[in-house]
Amino acid sequence: MPADEFDVVVLGGGTGGYTAAIRASQLGLRTAIVEQEKLGGVCLHKGCIPTKALLESSALYHRVARRGAEFGLTAKEVAHDFARVAARRDAVVAQLHRGVQGLMKKNQVQVVEAHGRLRDRNTVEAGTRRLKARQVIVATGSSPRSLPGLEPDGERILTSDHATLASELPDSVCIIGAGAVGVEFATFYSQMGSKVILLEALDRLVPLEDEDVSKELLKQFTAAGIECRLGARVTGAKPARDGISVRLDEGEVWARRVLVAVGRAANSKDLGLEQAGVELHKNGFVKVDEWMRTSAEGVWAIGDVVGGFLLAHAAGHEGIVAAEDIAGRRATPMEQDLVTRCTFSHPQIASVGLTQAQAVEKGHEVRVGRFPFSANGRALIHGEPGGFAKLVADGKTGQLLGAHVIGVDATELISEPALARLFQGDAWEVGRNIHPHPTLSEAVGEAALAAAGAAINI
Ligand code: NAD
Repeated sequence: MPADEFDVVVLGGGTGGYTAAIRASQLGLRTAIVEQEKLGGVCLHKGCIPTKALLESSALYHRVARRGAEFGLTAKEVAHDFARVAARRDAVVAQLHRGVQGLMKKNQVQVVEAHGRLRDRNTVEAGTRRLKARQVIVATGSSPRSLPGLEPDGERILTSDHATLASELPDSVCIIGAGAVGVEFATFYSQMGSKVILLEALDRLVPLEDEDVSKELLKQFTAAGIECRLGARVTGAKPARDGISVRLDEGEVWARRVLVAVGRAANSKDLGLEQAGVELHKNGFVKVDEWMRTSAEGVWAIGDVVGGFLLAHAAGHEGIVAAEDIAGRRATPMEQDLVTRCTFSHPQIASVGLTQAQAVEKGHEVRVGRFPFSANGRALIHGEPGGFAKLVADGKTGQLLGAHVIGVDATELISEPALARLFQGDAWEVGRNIHPHPTLSEAVGEAALAAAGAAINI
């Protein structure tokens, strides 16, 4: 094949794009990936990884400085040095970045460092090169949305990109939006000792989660000193007193910085998509079917640019689905309701499948099992009795419809009910799984037993 001819060209080297490229190459397809910034994308450089590294520092600081005595520890002069927190964040990112670069070499994926766009459905222009592709996978991701009157400047008005890569810590922050980004940064700033005001336009925090989860989060955030204002719609902002004043429908709030965390928009502009026949939804996300095929033959799209939950692990999975479809090796299609959702706030939140309200709305006769972490030995040992595991099952068949966990290490607990859902299992089967003791996973098992009317420890 001539140097610039490929079976597959992947546009965008984030989690979705590089996973698709590896799988395509494994399946014998000659593959190139076009990336204008760094391999690893938002997740690795401005999202999941650096923010979780920041949260690890803040959690440890908070635990030792504020709660050490509870555990019988005396530590004098515990302080944080933000430059070193940031250096650790950057070191974790750098190590993983080297890993992704190594994976491209190992899998013989050709990396083209350039801005790419479709000239037609079989040609990708990448800088000075013109790549011929039998198939194209669009994996260009998303970017933070802003609000009218709040144009991010990286100084007083921040997006998650700025906040993630910051080299200083403001003493007070107003966060607009209580989705995943908003509540994770509320946790980080609050644990580091900054004053946090969290504004949410809707009537509950994390509005996409089960209502019981929103209530528990509000309770714990309020107890942690985070000022949560619900039903608070922001109408503008102006610089004031070495900070910024944020105007609401009613009144205004002042903080040193404002973080705008009101969702993300698809990176689907200026890529030549429409000319190639790729249809977009009104909100700019790319339309795809369950095999990640777009409306243009030979063009697939995966990850944030197609919408849905905008999660790295969903993007990676979609990349595998697309690559296998291209190689004629269809296994299973992409199913959004099998995607696990994880939010690394304190308390952590994790869920899969339907909320209780969604299950009722879909006509299920619902049976719910709940188990509080206050009755779980491991959670008490952690000093984290708040939160619960909640399983939603169909009352007639017992089939597991959804799982919702809020509390310590919730994100590590969700894969078990997710696997049960993949196997189309029933709640009692999760309960019959023998959970090791003393572990947090027992809370999921007990919630499952409770859904089947057979709880032991409550
Ligand atoms: P989001 O859509 O999850 O939440 C945005 C929130 O802002 C909503 O609750 C919305 O009601 C509120 N809002 C919108 N306009 C407002 C206004 N004018 N005033 C007050 N509130 C307003 O978006 P996000 O939190 O920015 O996250 C973006 C995407 O990235 C999401 O899809 C999320 O799942 C993903 N993400 C995931 C993780 C994770 O999984 N841990 C972390 C970060 C981001």
